[in-house]
Amino acid sequence: MTKKIEFFRHNIDERDIARVKDVLTSLFLTTGSEVAEFERKFSEYTGLGQTVGLTSCTAALHLSLLAFGVGRGDEVITTPMSFCATSNSVIHAGAKPVFVDVEPETGNLDAALIEKAVTPRTKAIIPVHLYGQMCDMKRIREIADRRGLAVIEDAAHAVEAERDGVRVGQLGDAACYSFYATKNIASGEGGAVCTNNADAAELLRMLRMHGIDKSAIDRYTRRYQHWDMPVLGWKYNMDNIHAALLVDQLDRIDGLWERRDLLWEMYEEGLSGMKDVELLKTLPQSRHARHLFTILVPPGRRDAALSALQEKGVGVAVNYRPIHLLAYYRREFGFSEGDFPRAEEIGSRTISLPLYPKLGEDEVRAVVGAVRDVMTARSGD
Ligand SMILES: *Cc1c(COP(=O)(O)O)cnc(C)c1O
Repeated sequence: MTKKIEFFRHNIDERDIARVKDVLTSLFLTTGSEVAEFERKFSEYTGLGQTVGLTSCTAALHLSLLAFGVGRGDEVITTPMSFCATSNSVIHAGAKPVFVDVEPETGNLDAALIEKAVTPRTKAIIPVHLYGQMCDMKRIREIADRRGLAVIEDAAHAVEAERDGVRVGQLGDAACYSFYATKNIASGEGGAVCTNNADAAELLRMLRMHGIDKSAIDRYTRRYQHWDMPVLGWKYNMDNIHAALLVDQLDRIDGLWERRDLLWEMYEEGLSGMKDVELLKTLPQSRHARHLFTILVPPGRRDAALSALQEKGVGVAVNYRPIHLLAYYRREFGFSEGDFPRAEEIGSRTISLPLYPKLGEDEVRAVVGAVRDVMTARSGD
């Protein structure tokens, strides 16, 4: 039995741990100065005016939809090729997710299909920058402007991404980020919204804290003031402990990206042209955030390949079986096989391989070797 190659290992280091320790020995554990520092540095990194720190990207999507006026009876256009959080957030907001199919060569929402899905009830579009590669934001913004729709970007995979000279969040009304355990920067659980819209940011700050107009830190740093609750909100505020884990990771984010980029190129070199293995396309004039490295194998062999790779000690995942075929979505919305054939094709063929800065170059070579062994072995061997 060879040494296990984990699917993911995080990047928390001694500096992050020391910073958390400082918070734990301080007076203030919840949303306070560490969150403010994280928000300042994250806005600096993304180039977007306002950051609101939250407990997850799911919360970020939910609150962004509310802040941009999505509610009961509305429709939101998005992709079935994502984690279910994307479309669940639409349902949380009281609206209905409307899926459109993806581009076969990238897996991203196909902008050319959006307009056919627009109805008088459509209020917003949620593009997902799948695996770290941006959607065609120029085209999506143009459609949204013409149709009067909000654009909420699901940037859970794509903090570092850029395409056609456009950064994540620059053309959207808001961009939603995740700091879940396996994301490019991580705090276990965590998320944020960035927006250039100051009014929306103010509303988001209230919505993350029950809709209350003064936070605990306001009550602590200033003399006690009564607070009011002008709107109904949720309990989604990031705390100082999680923020402390992220502040220094932001100093290292581009170095971490460079390491993943190098490993990505090793994978591409090792796997391109391999029999029964296809790769998605990295677009030119873009910076792919290099979040998830996926291969496509023949549909009938995917599940066997998953087990065989695990048997060889390679950690794997599937990103994603399409959302519309999950039990709840079939039952509630009547979706079935054939509704979004390109997403289904990727969903039945995709395997995600280990990709993270601590992954060794020898480990990448071992994974490539394992894929070759598994895919070139005759069935029944
Ligand atoms: C991880 C992920 C989310 C959800 O993020 P959480 O922080 O876990 O809520 C949403 N969308 C995509 C594409 C993701 O990968």
